[in-house]
Amino acid sequence: LKEQGKQLIKIDKWFPSTKTCSNCGSVKEVGLSERTYQCTCGLSLNRDYNSALNIKKEGIRLLSSAA
Ligand SMILES: [Zn+2]
Repeated sequence: LKEQGKQLIKIDKWFPSTKTCSNCGSVKEVGLSERTYQCTCGLSLNRDYNSALNIKKEGIRLLSSAA
């Protein structure tokens, strides 16, 4: 087997990726019907995209803290 050079990062299930602003990091409640995440910092993003950015950032954070 060849090493693929990829690392699987495990993100905690409680990580509030859909509730966290990917720009400033503040957390707020987001209704299930809200398709856009809007933050007081001016961020306005597709809810799923904001969530994906948060997971990516959290993965990088976990990687760097594990080193
Ligand atoms: Zn924000």
